Amino acid sequence: MEDCLFCRIARGEIPSRKVYEDDLLIAFHDINPARPMHLLVVPRRHIVSLQTVTADDEPVLGRMLTVARRLAEENGSPDGFRVIINNGRVGGQEVPHLHAHVVGGPEPVGPMLKRN
Ligand code: AMP
Ligand code: ZN
Repeated sequence: MEDCLFCRIARGEIPSRKVYEDDLLIAFHDINPARPMHLLVVPRRHIVSLQTVTADDEPVLGRMLTVARRLAEENGSPDGFRVIINNGRVGGQEVPHLHAHVVGGPEPVGPMLKRN
């Protein structure tokens, strides 16, 4: 995936404000934060979305959530946080490389979704 934005960030070809990395993941600040803490947790390997995952992806999917917990505690959201994963057209995904938004801050992030 030569041109994928998050693959390029993972390879260090595009700068990011990195907060974490390990063998499976990197995490960095969202460029356009929606809350005081807004991080993106991103698999190093190109996975498009949860629409394409299989059981083989369970190690990286599990790691995404345990890292989310650690990053929230370390980055200003010790009293809770929200994890959002947008998938595909209906899910409103803009960057087609799987990522979890980890959002929070000192104050509650607000309602989950507007009800129609
Ligand atoms: P999604 O709509 O779930 O695909 O979210 C994509 C997210 O990527 C948005 O919140 C953007 O602000 C964020 N984003 C786009 N480009 C960059 C970048 N170069 N560095 C960090 N975050 C980015
Ligand atoms: Zn990618």
